[in-house]
Amino acid sequence: MDTNETPNRSSIRAGVDRRTIVSLGGLALLCGCVADGSRTLPGPIWPDLDESCPIPPAPPTASGGRATPSPLPAGGVLPRSDWARGAPICSLMNPMLPVKYVTVHHDGMTPFTAEDQRSSAGRIEMIRNGHRGNGWGDIGYHYVIDRDGRVWEGRAINYQGAHVKNCNEGNLGICCLGNFDEQSPSAAQMAALERQLKLLMRTYGVPKSRVKTHQEWAGAKTACPGRSLQASMVKLRRSSALA
Ligand SMILES: [Zn+2]
Repeated sequence: MDTNETPNRSSIRAGVDRRTIVSLGGLALLCGCVADGSRTLPGPIWPDLDESCPIPPAPPTASGGRATPSPLPAGGVLPRSDWARGAPICSLMNPMLPVKYVTVHHDGMTPFTAEDQRSSAGRIEMIRNGHRGNGWGDIGYHYVIDRDGRVWEGRAINYQGAHVKNCNEGNLGICCLGNFDEQSPSAAQMAALERQLKLLMRTYGVPKSRVKTHQEWAGAKTACPGRSLQASMVKLRRSSALA
């Protein structure tokens, strides 16, 4: 919710102040709220990026290496190619900086209770479509967690996300499907979120104090991730589950 894409690399190279450009793009307020009306998925489209647009290296891990591909828990992991109907526009995205934060979101659309893979894939594509409609290079989140606890790859971690206005640098974004002002996350969804948070914290050396929800960012004028998930996140961080 309430996200923004970053300026393109040529702007950065030209020395234009990043925040100035971001503010121009900050008018876009949609998260996954723009749908094209289609709920069918004709098949993945994931063409190779052309040579003029090389994929940047993944951000460094806590051990000094690089996580390639995106660190994902074993089992139930679905790659971007399983749901996306369009390729990312890399000229609209910046390389990811060293990871310092993880931020949790909901999609904030209408309540969503479907647990099947196809419905979840359609929902994620709707989000991507909305984000592309805002002029962003790809879906803004790096990971998406559905109601059945599947973890889906979103934007490649090699690229900075677009999920917290003005605060996307070094910030991994996780979106849980649903609207948690109007429903609660499923047990499977919370269990998967906890596992994914632990994995990312361990991989990138992110302390619990830097695991945030969207509304916890200073200046974030949003209710994201909704009352229920916000309460669950507060409880999770108070527990010993996240070391
Ligand atoms: Zn959000």
